[in-house]
Amino acid sequence: MVAGNSDENRGAMSAQLLRGQKALVTGANSGIGKATAIALGRAGADVVVNYVVGAEEAEKVCAQIEGFGVRAYAHEADVSNEDQVVAIVARMVEEFGTIDILVANAGLQRDSAVTEMTLAQWQKVIDVNLTGQFLCAREAAKEFMRRGVVEEVSRSAGKIICMSSVHQIIPWSGHVNYASSKGGVGMLMQTLAQELAPHRIRVNAVAPGAIRTPINRDAWSTPEAEANLLRLIPYRRVGDPEDIANAVVAVSSDLLDYVVGSTLYVDGGMTLFPGFATGG
Ligand code: NAD
Repeated sequence: MVAGNSDENRGAMSAQLLRGQKALVTGANSGIGKATAIALGRAGADVVVNYVVGAEEAEKVCAQIEGFGVRAYAHEADVSNEDQVVAIVARMVEEFGTIDILVANAGLQRDSAVTEMTLAQWQKVIDVNLTGQFLCAREAAKEFMRRGVVEEVSRSAGKIICMSSVHQIIPWSGHVNYASSKGGVGMLMQTLAQELAPHRIRVNAVAPGAIRTPINRDAWSTPEAEANLLRLIPYRRVGDPEDIANAVVAVSSDLLDYVVGSTLYVDGGMTLFPGFATGG
């Protein structure tokens, strides 16, 4: 058979990458999390599809993943609630035996000018985007350390992928809560990477640019908005959730086993200061 570039062939190739691994994706019934959960399943992992609202969509994602011949189940939990996060990993150990990959993806925006921003808006974003990642990473790390490396499964004892953003480094007026949370995610990731690497746990971040999902619908849903957005993207296309999902599969796999504490920007060049292409 001649190898082609079809989805089927790509699926067949990536099906080997994560075979036998157990993955948790938070906020996995929408956008980037959904595409990532599906891509991990296609790559051979069993997947827990976490969601906080929208059970029906979560079940659909599970059905799609099961179509690849791997296991999946949906788990309702708020990532900012300590007891609920402890329960996600405890159930995973019960049902799947362990966890190999955590994709700390759940996130939200509560936008406002700083002078109008309420403490509740600030706190909600920090609780979900930053504290949620801390809680999930802590629980996953405990299980990675308990189990250690299983050579037949992976060269590392576990992988944590923090879903960050280009706003890990690009300031963003009107979104001080969100930009602060992602700046925090960058340092959370690097510090965890430094602390956990001796245990053969790899912690990295994937930092999306502008991806077509519900979180930023206003930025791409009209031709005018999209044209405005494209000015910020040297590659001149808005990203798709699959662009991020593919990056997560790669970072999770042993192909990138020596990548520790890195942020992979998946942004069509948004972090290249595009304003300087014509100005400066
Ligand atoms: P989305 O709104 O489609 O998905 C966010 C998911 O997180 C949803 O499933 C939502 O229900 C879930 N969630 C929210 N609060 C939660 C909680 N307390 N507990 C559990 N789940 C919760 O948006 P998306 O674009 O897919 O965002 C996913 C991640 O990617 C976020 O961390 C976001 O900051 C990041 N990101 C997105 C973009 C983009 O352009 N879309 C760019 C950079 C970073």
